[in-house]
Amino acid sequence: MPSVTLMGTGGPRRDPTRNATSLLLRTGAEEVLIDAGRGAVRGLGAAGADLKALRRVVLTHHHFDHIGDLYDVILNSWLEGRKHPLVIEGPPGTRQIVDALLTQVYALDWNWRSLGEPTHGGWAPVEVREVAAGEWLEGAGWRAQAEAVSHGHTLPSLPPAFLARWHCHGYRFEVAGKVFAFSGDTVDCPGLRRLAEGADVLVMCCYAAAAELTGEHLRVLARHTLACGDTVGKIAAACGVKRLVLTHHKPRPDDGVLDTLMAEVAADFAGPLEIAHDGLVVEF
Ligand SMILES: [Zn+2]
Repeated sequence: MPSVTLMGTGGPRRDPTRNATSLLLRTGAEEVLIDAGRGAVRGLGAAGADLKALRRVVLTHHHFDHIGDLYDVILNSWLEGRKHPLVIEGPPGTRQIVDALLTQVYALDWNWRSLGEPTHGGWAPVEVREVAAGEWLEGAGWRAQAEAVSHGHTLPSLPPAFLARWHCHGYRFEVAGKVFAFSGDTVDCPGLRRLAEGADVLVMCCYAAAAELTGEHLRVLARHTLACGDTVGKIAAACGVKRLVLTHHKPRPDDGVLDTLMAEVAADFAGPLEIAHDGLVVEF
């Protein structure tokens, strides 16, 4: 049975109980890493992933809580025996980031390991494929369509020159006749609705409960940047989602408010609903 393991269910801010975003899709024929935020490599270890066999990484966007461990994934998969290219797919701009990691930030690191530790058999390459919204990705036992989602795009303070380079995706995965949709980071938008339509599982960002939106910063965030408890249930219900899993949580001093979040979303969405924690396995 295909599954997705939520290895990181937090956001950009430090949280002792949650890694930043990373998910492991298991199709039965292949393991696919989706995002590589803080703690991704640790999460892959905890999930028992076969790093040397990893071939595919799919990125939603370029905030650091989604790519902070990308180099760690590249390097550790090689150290564990990967000989084939690691294919990294993501929005436009992905190539520049991977090139910067390999030719600037960590050039000495991987050269040192390649030359200084030849038992690893020389450097295993990395290939980048930039994916535009609407394009399909295909692998062993899965395919996915990228959708453009709205993650800060409506903030009046972000200038057009920046927004022209700011591409954020969600993905609609098809595996064994089932649909697993991952929102990425977004608020309600047409791309999110397309990828979620009739999904067997929607893993949806939900940063905070509506009851937690107590200041102007968080209210603006909920409107423009990350969906929260006031909208996610409505979106899932409107899209006919069969099962809803909430991720990308803000750090909280205690988790009591999760009951409030659950009640807010359940008021709008009658189907099965889970609040994700790190390590949660969702079979579908
Ligand atoms: Zn994020």
